[in-house]
Amino acid sequence: MVENVVIIGSGPAAHTAAIYAARANLTPVIFEGFMAGGVAAGGQLTTTTDVENFPGFPEGIMGPELCERFRAQSLRFGTRIFTETVNELDLSKRPFTFKSDEQAGEARALIIATGATAKRDAIPGTLDGELWQRGVSACAVCDGALPMFRNKPLFVVGGGDSAMEEASFLSKFASKVYIVHRRDELRASAIMQERAKHNPKIELLLSHQVTRVEGGHTVEQVHVRDLKSNTDRVIAAAGLFFAIGHVPNTKFLGGQLACDDQGYVITTPGSTLTSVEGVFAAGDVQDKKYRQAITAAGSGCMAALEAEHFLSSHT
Ligand code: FAD
Ligand code: NDP
Repeated sequence: MVENVVIIGSGPAAHTAAIYAARANLTPVIFEGFMAGGVAAGGQLTTTTDVENFPGFPEGIMGPELCERFRAQSLRFGTRIFTETVNELDLSKRPFTFKSDEQAGEARALIIATGATAKRDAIPGTLDGELWQRGVSACAVCDGALPMFRNKPLFVVGGGDSAMEEASFLSKFASKVYIVHRRDELRASAIMQERAKHNPKIELLLSHQVTRVEGGHTVEQVHVRDLKSNTDRVIAAAGLFFAIGHVPNTKFLGGQLACDDQGYVITTPGSTLTSVEGVFAAGDVQDKKYRQAITAAGSGCMAALEAEHFLSSHT
């Protein structure tokens, strides 16, 4: 049997695409992955606590619960969900073929919504079961406004545009923000560097490295090493935010879709169209700028509507 639409992924983009595709009678199938990209089915939101910026939940909602609700809504409209990772695609002819952990199949249209994984460094104290999500985060925009960070010193690790942007964002709430970068030259664009340098609340610690994060229930202090003088300091802080890049989950595409130099799928601006007709991409796998649940959901809706249009004009 050839499927109409196979959706690969399990975050807000995949489930929004499924809800729209199912309501358009396309009987979609989701492959939600089994620890694909190192993240549980449900995607990045399974790794966080309070989500306070997704509309419809004025009191906030826990990330894993929001993922469960997305999934329940997909199921309600008849989407079939397989907890399997798709490992291989053949996009050279239609119908496209795919292979997952346990099956092979064909699809007239594909929606790639495999997301991205925020990179973290294995600094002692920051790991799962330590202070991860108890002051240590990989998303300042998501977590920075929490009361625990208000008027407290905070750390951002990284030297790219994300680090500059996250530090500027955090400076609205924090008493001070330290940016720790491993080299003496930032990678960020000139304008973003200038903004950070002129922000009185931001202090740049170049050629520095965070060596340990400590605390009780939440983060209390951060150990930093000056890599030039090889001296260590302990600085009181309530949080540490990694901004050391993301890895888009696109390896399994085997180079069959046009991607940028960092591996993000390239879509035609204002759409979810990829370099292969009939293949659509939604969510963080094609978005390195906004990276939010609501923008992922929005592009999932676009992908389903575009897939529906494609299928109706290619019987
Ligand atoms: P993702 O959530 O990235 O999920 C994609 C999933 O697809 C993967 O995780 C994996 O399970 C699966 N998958 C991958 N490869 C395959 C494959 N080959 N086959 C099958 N399945 C596969 N955003 C907000 O708006 N508010 C917040 O408060 C917020 N907090 C965050 C906190 C943290 C710690 C992080 C890391 C992110 C946070 N974000 C938040 C960002 C938000 O989670 C992402 O923007 C959003 O989840 C992206 O959705 P997505 O649908 O693109 O895919
Ligand atoms: P980048 O890859 O540009 O930067 C990552 C930074 O993290 C680098 O400075 C890197 O150091 C550092 N780093 C990587 N791994 C480690 C590690 N293990 N320990 C310590 N430091 C580490 O990622 P970004 O997320 O900053 O940006 C991604 C893309 O998105 C870029 O193209 C950027 O321009 C764009 N972007 C644009 C924005 C804007 O214009 N407003 C905002 C945010 C992102 P090193 O430099 O030594 O390699």
